[in-house]
Amino acid sequence: MFKEPLFHISHDTCIKCYSCVRICPVKAIRVDVSNELPSIIPDRCIGCGSCYRACAPHSITFRSSVAECREILAAGEKVAAICDPTISGEFHDITDYRKFVEMIRQLGFTYVSEASFGVDLVALKYKELFENFKGKYHFTANCPAVVSYIEKYYPELITNLAPIVSPMVATAKVIRQKYGQDVKVVYIGPCISTKDEALKFEGDAKIDSVLTFVELRQMFAEFNIRESQLEFSEFDAPLGHKGSLYPIINGFLQAVDISENLLTGSVITTEGRNNMVHAVKEFDTRIEHIRKNFNLFYDEGCLMGPGTSAGGEKFLRMTLVTDYANKRLLTFDKKTWENEINSCADLDLSRQFEADDQRLPVPDEEKIEEVLVMINREGHMHNDIGCESCGYPNCRDLAIAISQGLATTEMCHVFSGHNRQEYIQTLRTTNENLAATKIALKESEEKAKHEQEAQTESAEIITTMLQNLLSGVVIVDDDLKIYQSNKAFIRIVGEEAAMIDEVIPGLVGADLKSLLPAHFYKMFSYVLTSDEPIENKDVQFGEIKLGVSIFPIRSHKYVGGILRDMYIPEVRKEQIITRLTEVIDENFDMVQKIAYLLGEGASKTEQMLNSVIDSYKNPGKKT
Ligand code: SF4
Ligand code: SF4
Repeated sequence: MFKEPLFHISHDTCIKCYSCVRICPVKAIRVDVSNELPSIIPDRCIGCGSCYRACAPHSITFRSSVAECREILAAGEKVAAICDPTISGEFHDITDYRKFVEMIRQLGFTYVSEASFGVDLVALKYKELFENFKGKYHFTANCPAVVSYIEKYYPELITNLAPIVSPMVATAKVIRQKYGQDVKVVYIGPCISTKDEALKFEGDAKIDSVLTFVELRQMFAEFNIRESQLEFSEFDAPLGHKGSLYPIINGFLQAVDISENLLTGSVITTEGRNNMVHAVKEFDTRIEHIRKNFNLFYDEGCLMGPGTSAGGEKFLRMTLVTDYANKRLLTFDKKTWENEINSCADLDLSRQFEADDQRLPVPDEEKIEEVLVMINREGHMHNDIGCESCGYPNCRDLAIAISQGLATTEMCHVFSGHNRQEYIQTLRTTNENLAATKIALKESEEKAKHEQEAQTESAEIITTMLQNLLSGVVIVDDDLKIYQSNKAFIRIVGEEAAMIDEVIPGLVGADLKSLLPAHFYKMFSYVLTSDEPIENKDVQFGEIKLGVSIFPIRSHKYVGGILRDMYIPEVRKEQIITRLTEVIDENFDMVQKIAYLLGEGASKTEQMLNSVIDSYKNPGKKT
């Protein structure tokens, strides 16, 4: 049956603190390079639950068995609950163990048994194994996280795992032998990794579901089961003996008096993540010197397992366990216990282990050095030391993990801090540039505004001047369409132009060809094409005689025309002055000769003509 992975990380709430990466003893958490989010690699995970405990925002959850258990209980079959003896340390808030036995019964369990009897049975097997030494030392195989660690990371040591089932599996076999093979079994314990251990067994060893104590409390709340409403109830047989000490690390050995004597004993017991990791490593390299069996627990005894309520106090729990064990011993019936033990003599409590090598190939030195250079940690100086904030014991191990695709360079705080500084500096420079650009933009906007205002003002002045000129002014484009014209031009052109002006002021866009005769507008075409001006040319336009000057404004694009009505007195007078001045200039020699022939001095002739000019300029003045 497919089961989802034991642990899951929610990326919605993960804050990328990497506490999980740091604490994982087997680096089973990969950080994605693209989004820097951590994910658990199920095959590498040993189910220890350290990451689950370390995750402050509770982004890591484990596979819940509550719904599965609810279904098993609702199916109407016989269901046995097997309680790990750690339950006495967990339920400090319940006054008597017989109360939580009844509370569990109230959930719908047919039998409520204790795993202490299974511990007794298994411990006896270990006593036999350790005392009949055949040249090989063993690890105890009770802690599923330890078993998984050896199977995955020291597969060559699986033959050193004691070939004995755990107390959970042993108790399941006992229950089925006693109450029938059809009984369903739910294990209630402090451990999360037992959920995966349970999946490995079938037949009379089958564990149908595993509830942690946290999940059990959840079910009590869901079924509204409270101690105060219930009477005492005893565990169903078989009852255990000193197996109830199992939650305390040495309790397992003391259950059957396996010697821990430092001088003569054959077992070393240790607990906790780091101790366990180092113990296996030393067993691997030094067992021929150490010459002891190893009794290992990943957690600080089952007491502090990740399936217990958070915030538990270790020594209070130890006391609760020993109090419970003492209480049980008061009513211990040795005869019955021995009979029960003897009745299990034929139970097969043996177990095989499977190597599941998850070790990754170590990258070559060149690659490691390349990564060390990348994170500015090149050189041997940094290889064996490190701040460990990345989760790896030294820079070299981080470099190896990066090469293996398990970690990212950003996990190195020094590297990411340096990058951050560079980024901040870049950001600061960009901001300064941006601010300078903003000021320059504002200044140029203001300048442009002033220029536009000045242009508008001068355009208004020019237009006003243009409109008040006596001469007609017209500017046309290369299509001879009027760009601008003044009132005098409209007056000269006549009635038709005046009508258009009412609709389109200044005749803007009107076609010059439709307003002027061909000989006249062709003069504008000529100037447009030749780019040469026509100066002061007389043009007859209907009844009017015009003095016309046409000049290029923008080469081949715009030309302007000035049309002067010669019959306007001011214009006529000015014209006569101009013409006479031209005559004097052009014919001066000839005038002198004529004057000589006529007997008159040249100066006199000139004087005479100048006086004519003067009289036109100043009509009231005597000459
Ligand atoms: S412990 Fe791991 S999963 Fe939890 S917030 Fe930190 S990085 Fe995310
Ligand atoms: S449960 Fe343990 S082995 Fe698995 S990812 Fe978490 S810390 Fe690593």
